[in-house]
Amino acid sequence: MAAFRATVLTLYPDMFPGHLGASLAGKAMERGDWSLDTVQIRDFATDRHRTVDDTPAGGGAGMVLKPDVLARAIDSVAADTRPRLLMSPRGRPLTQKRVRELAEGEGLVIVCGRFEGVDQRVIDARGLEEVSIGDYILSGGEPAALILLDAIVRIIPGVMGNASSGLNESFEHGLLEHPHYTRPQVFEGAEIPAVLTSGNHAAIERWRMEEALRLTQERRPDLLSRD
Ligand code: SAH
Repeated sequence: MAAFRATVLTLYPDMFPGHLGASLAGKAMERGDWSLDTVQIRDFATDRHRTVDDTPAGGGAGMVLKPDVLARAIDSVAADTRPRLLMSPRGRPLTQKRVRELAEGEGLVIVCGRFEGVDQRVIDARGLEEVSIGDYILSGGEPAALILLDAIVRIIPGVMGNASSGLNESFEHGLLEHPHYTRPQVFEGAEIPAVLTSGNHAAIERWRMEEALRLTQERRPDLLSRD
């Protein structure tokens, strides 16, 4: 399979690959299992001051990324069929399901917003899919892009040390994961639940499923009613 290719459009290319250059993701990148390149949006400004933003039409605080500059930056990425995403708090909340779909593809192009955001017309004209990583506001799309890529890269075949552990995680089965324990047997007076050291695999599986259900009901009942 061809390696997964990510292209990130940003005003801060120095923020990449960030933490993705370390640990398993970094090793996988060195092996060529995935690649990341950046495009400096500012390179596509045409005036003497290399302006990338302007005041919001209609007034108000902050600045808006100019559509013409951003469109040129997007168009500089060789035409291909990779999905084009815009990190945006107004976007569809990211889910493990979407992460998995993206990881199965050939790669993606990610636009990182800054300031108050991006002119709506370039979002529409270039068909950008808006993706949010949660209901809070970051100062820029770069950390959001790194989080999205982290979630994708760890499930690209060959990247994670123990491939099977990926399938048991929280959300993969629509549930939060069961709790984990490891040695010592007694920690500050608390024992590992006896079933986990019983050697009875069917009982262990049942316990884990019950705990997953209990935690999901308690903490995230919304997950149980999701399709
Ligand atoms: N004025 C905007 C927030 C702009 S924050 C609003 O109220 O909706 C600046 C940039 O940070 C955004 O363009 C986006 O690229 C990024 N960003 C901020 N929060 C984000 C989130 N929760 N998910 C994804 N991207 C986010």
